[in-house]
Amino acid sequence: MTMKKYNFNAGPSILPKEVMEATAAACIEFEGSGLSLMEISHRAKNFQPVVDEAVALFKELLDIPEGYSVIFLGGGASLEFCMVPYNFLEKKAAYLNTGVWATKAMKEAKLFGEVVEVASSKDRNFTYIPRNFEIPTDADYLHITSNNTIYGTELLEDLDSPIPVMADMSSDILSRPVDVSKYGLIYGGAQKNLSMAGVTFVIVKEDLLGHVSRPIPTMLDYRTHVKKGSMFNTPPTVPIYCALQNLKWIKKQGGVEAMERRAKERAEIVYGEIDRNKLFVGTAEEGSRSRMNITFVLKEEYQDLQDEFLAFATSKGMVGIKGHRDVGGFRASCYNAMSIEGCQALVACMKEFEAQH
Ligand SMILES: *Cc1c(COP(=O)(O)O)cnc(C)c1O
Repeated sequence: MTMKKYNFNAGPSILPKEVMEATAAACIEFEGSGLSLMEISHRAKNFQPVVDEAVALFKELLDIPEGYSVIFLGGGASLEFCMVPYNFLEKKAAYLNTGVWATKAMKEAKLFGEVVEVASSKDRNFTYIPRNFEIPTDADYLHITSNNTIYGTELLEDLDSPIPVMADMSSDILSRPVDVSKYGLIYGGAQKNLSMAGVTFVIVKEDLLGHVSRPIPTMLDYRTHVKKGSMFNTPPTVPIYCALQNLKWIKKQGGVEAMERRAKERAEIVYGEIDRNKLFVGTAEEGSRSRMNITFVLKEEYQDLQDEFLAFATSKGMVGIKGHRDVGGFRASCYNAMSIEGCQALVACMKEFEAQH
């Protein structure tokens, strides 16, 4: 028998077993058609309902108001770093700098106009979310990264902003209720909390489109995909199907409210142990701690135990807890599909390691 594995990978990452089973089954035979999901047209009449249902469920789960479209694209969150300014930056855009991903988004925006950094947490290696910054009212939009996957910081409120807020929610989408009406656009790569890798979700407020004066290449123009319902060209069919299974799973579990309850519970368990354990210390500041990516290091005096703890945790079935190189130490990514049992197993492992030292 193989040992039980607890998947704390940062992304691609854990998915509910039944989501993977349903997707795998459809890859062998799609809805009794005698054909694989992989070998049918995206325009097949039994595939269109997959996209329609995924869009409808996304809208239902996040209570997305009228006037917003949900679209599925390729290119990852990284392509959105350029698509957002391409479509919305006329003169000037404001960016909140909370780490590597935010910095990458700013780099792309600078190709299109002036970029104002409204605040940055770079001074303390992005261990916190800046608060009380001024939002310039003459900027076209404010870009934020709601969850900083690498540093384990998360902005858990929906900001009040005089200009449209464009949010990279790659790693915390569907982990809490969001007031979508406070955003102009929300996007993310699916492989953290929505689906397998290969699809990008975008929620966009339609009346913000079409206001920039530059010509936009067809594929990079959100209007193309809104108008064609994500079917302008061939979308990533299998990842969309997988996303649909996960959206169904979330609904069955009780929706985003249930996801938030579980996320809080998991975070309490893991942060509780980090704060109690004599060996470890959390890296993110208390008020900015992420529920999705929990980052921690060994205390100064125990630094030499780094490799030993990693090997010990691995021997107990923990997967993917090595921290990102920019932070070091450890990172336990606790996305929607992570069980309470998985967090308890990690805690037991930390306690046992502490007892040995
Ligand atoms: C992973 C990640 C990205 C990059 O996503 P890709 O889909 O690989 O381009 C961007 N932003 C955040 C917050 C991420 O966690």
